[in-house]
Amino acid sequence: MARLDLLFRARRVVTDAGEAARSIGVRDGTIVAVEPLEADLAAAEVVRLGDDEVLLPGLVDSHVHVNDPGRTEWEGFASATRAAAAGGVTTIVDMPLNSVPPTTDAAALRVKRATARGQAYVDVGFWGGAVPGNLRELRGLHDAGVFGFKSFLLHSGVPEFPPLEPAELADALRELRAFDALMIVHAEDPHVIDHAPPARGASYRDFLRSRPRGAENLAVAHVIELARRTGCRVHILHLSSSDALPMIRSARDDGVRITVETCPHYLTFSAEEIAEGATPFKCCPPIREAANRESLWRGLADGTIDCVVSDHSPCTPELKRLDTGDFGLAWGGIASLQLGLPAVWTEARRRGHPLTDVARWMAGRPAQVAGLSGKGRIAPGHQADLCVFAPDETFVADQDRLHHRNPVTPYHGRTLAGVVRASWLRGERVDIDGPPRGRLLNRGEA
Ligand SMILES: [Zn+2]
Repeated sequence: MARLDLLFRARRVVTDAGEAARSIGVRDGTIVAVEPLEADLAAAEVVRLGDDEVLLPGLVDSHVHVNDPGRTEWEGFASATRAAAAGGVTTIVDMPLNSVPPTTDAAALRVKRATARGQAYVDVGFWGGAVPGNLRELRGLHDAGVFGFKSFLLHSGVPEFPPLEPAELADALRELRAFDALMIVHAEDPHVIDHAPPARGASYRDFLRSRPRGAENLAVAHVIELARRTGCRVHILHLSSSDALPMIRSARDDGVRITVETCPHYLTFSAEEIAEGATPFKCCPPIREAANRESLWRGLADGTIDCVVSDHSPCTPELKRLDTGDFGLAWGGIASLQLGLPAVWTEARRRGHPLTDVARWMAGRPAQVAGLSGKGRIAPGHQADLCVFAPDETFVADQDRLHHRNPVTPYHGRTLAGVVRASWLRGERVDIDGPPRGRLLNRGEA
């Protein structure tokens, strides 16, 4: 074999075949060799992992709100992608809302790309948005390279990204079916929530009652039936209610093209343990009871849930209403991009899951759902996006030491297992103090 640029030698490498001692050869940013550990290979640079380290595929986080431009005080491309790299995430896909303009037409995508250019420490892709009145923009956005389209069925939290009415969602799915694009949906039913008691004050229990499981269950059922009717591919975002798992399973058995993600916070925390006024835990749909969390873990174990992605949705400390702890008024969104891998690993290993499962949930499947066929796996022909992970080292999460813009996270003070020692992007070690080297991706380009 011709000389390699880079060679990793590690006692523990996570591949599709499981965990094994391997040598991973890289040329021109691409994995070209997956060989036994002591294989006779030569390279310009050799990286030998420590006995306490595991080589994982770089994570693909397909659910990140960068909020830039327009709400840059909430987050930005440089801070978000630094946090990603520090957390072992080598690709993010940015959500179309909370930035201004929202990514609902090709011109807005150009604005977003111009903003991100020169600031990305990891690779960045973009979701488009489906909102009332932009049906005719969807094809142009698709052609301009978005990975798919996000829609809401209820108020999104920002006025410039309104929800679709049921008939509008059906029209959008029919349109997307014509060019086989993916619709990703925030599935909570507005009418259920309108009739639930409103969230007020510092009581988490009251907040939870304001966003009942029934709102998610009904919305997921609605999305399933529209996907069945139109044939469009759909993806359920941030599933919290485990009640919806059996219907997702049965729809898939029927041939409905549906995938689903959940998030580290639904797999880590429980409503019972959230203190009065602890608004860093507020997100929508909400973190539910411990029994629900365990059902979500079973959904991961049996393959019903495809992906675990962050839904990193930060804001300023003021908007989290940390002073009053009012769950009704606080922004709903959890900041966790840098901590997703240790958070999930901490809970996964407690339940007997190996790192191969975590890599599938957080790298392999999200890459597939987002159409990134060259990412998310350590395999020949894939990009050399890698994470050096020390799974047995523990640390206490400290919000002041995270790289995202505002020092707020519900993981603050929590002991987590697993330290990211390095991230590699297309065969180069990511240096978050150096110049950014991430690329802005078009759909299917990587
Ligand atoms: Zn989100």
